[in-house]
Amino acid sequence: MNTITQTKEIPVVGQYDIVVCGGGPSGFVAAIAAARGGANVALIERYGFTGGMATAGLVAPISVFNYNGKRVIGGIPWEFVERLAAIGGAREEQPLGNITYSPEKYKITAQRMLLEAGVTLYFHSYLTGCRKDGDEITHVIIENKSGAQALGAKYFIDCTGDADLSFHAGAPMQPPGKILQPASLIFMLGNVDTDALPMIRHAKQGVNYHDLAMREILEKLREKREVPLFGGPWYCGVLAKGTVVVNMTRVQANMADNREATNAECVLREHVHLFTELLRQNIPAFSEATLLTTAPQTGVRETRRVKGHHTLTGDEYLNAVNFPDAIARGCHPVDIHAAGSTGQRCEFLKSAGFVPYRCLTIPGFPNLIVAGRIFSADGVASASIRVQASVMGIGQAAGAAAALAVKAGVDVSQVDIAELRATLTASGANLSE
Ligand SMILES: Cc1cc2nc3c(=O)[nH]c(=O)nc-3n(C[C@H](O)[C@H](O)[C@H](O)COP(=O)(O)OP(=O)(O)OC[C@H]3O[C@@H](n4cnc5c(N)ncnc54)[C@H](O)[C@@H]3O)c2cc1C
Repeated sequence: MNTITQTKEIPVVGQYDIVVCGGGPSGFVAAIAAARGGANVALIERYGFTGGMATAGLVAPISVFNYNGKRVIGGIPWEFVERLAAIGGAREEQPLGNITYSPEKYKITAQRMLLEAGVTLYFHSYLTGCRKDGDEITHVIIENKSGAQALGAKYFIDCTGDADLSFHAGAPMQPPGKILQPASLIFMLGNVDTDALPMIRHAKQGVNYHDLAMREILEKLREKREVPLFGGPWYCGVLAKGTVVVNMTRVQANMADNREATNAECVLREHVHLFTELLRQNIPAFSEATLLTTAPQTGVRETRRVKGHHTLTGDEYLNAVNFPDAIARGCHPVDIHAAGSTGQRCEFLKSAGFVPYRCLTIPGFPNLIVAGRIFSADGVASASIRVQASVMGIGQAAGAAAALAVKAGVDVSQVDIAELRATLTASGANLSE
């Protein structure tokens, strides 16, 4: 490959205790937790709003806070849901603790909580690299309408969903799986008879809420090669009568590769129009449906995950091994979407699992913590914990840990675990049962 060399002076526009990269479910919660821990915090986000896959990807609902009707994930994630519900932006479905939400109310609630906590926001800012001094990251580089800018910090939290900061810093990654889980472009339909679509509510434990009637039709069409790859279909309300988001497109792509990501967007946009028409023709509740919007970006289930001090395995997670440094929980089924077929492995848990702090730190990276779906786990453990409620819990732990590291002036792997767990428990996290 041809290369060019470009050198330029980059202004340092801010100096913080902690910079959080990525404002998705894990990142916005990490930033709030870090700021509430007393740190001076900045959050970088490539879009003009927070929420990541929840808002830019329109993946709904927020899954899941409960196991068998018992709340497993509390703390800031649950406080966020309560704030969202208070403005009519969330509805809990028991016993799972699935949250149907309004994406617009999600954005405003997250933004309010961030600003109330005193976090400095850098929106429309794309993280493109970092500067290191020995093992320590000293600055992250962002690009926005002002050009390239640098932000300095004592500690950094990578919540980019694709481990962008860890990647630029040269952190080790998990060996890529055989095939990455597929990407899906979610679309929103209006003028739907939502009362005639019971599966937009996700109420029972142990049920995969997809539309079996539509699936049968699609499978027959696929035998005749008349439809592309699909998943589900899964439908979810957005708390607006007549409006649903639909999750049924599917393409095999490495969304951390720009060429593949561009192709995926183009291919899936075509598929959205085709599937909208098929839903209108085949499912009475959709007969008058109109395509309101596609998500701003294709939803990404899996790209890079870091290789941390510990890699959480499916065995440990499914057997609910409790670790002395457990800092977050997960209770969603293991949910692996097949990249090359219409299939899905959905394995329900016997009990809620645990995430140890050692999965958030990386040997040789003393001031970097990761949170969200990039944490150090194998494909099975990750396929459960990647959902929103659990990554928010990991985000809170990462933010609280970074704030403790600022106070103690220690390497992130030296954070006092007893103090971290006590901080999380005091804020409502359930780490013990
Ligand atoms: C199709 C699909 C369906 C899903 N369904 C559900 C579901 O029903 N329920 C559920 O709970 N979960 C679901 N998920 C999973 C869940 O949404 C994600 O795993 C979760 O959002 C991950 O959170 P995160 O914070 O790690 O990353 P993300 O949500 O990806 O957030 C990352 C954030 O970082 C920003 N960012 C990324 N790179 C940069 C950069 N270089 N510079 C600046 N900003 C950057 C992004 O804009 C984004 O805001 C689904 C996912 C997909 C793809």
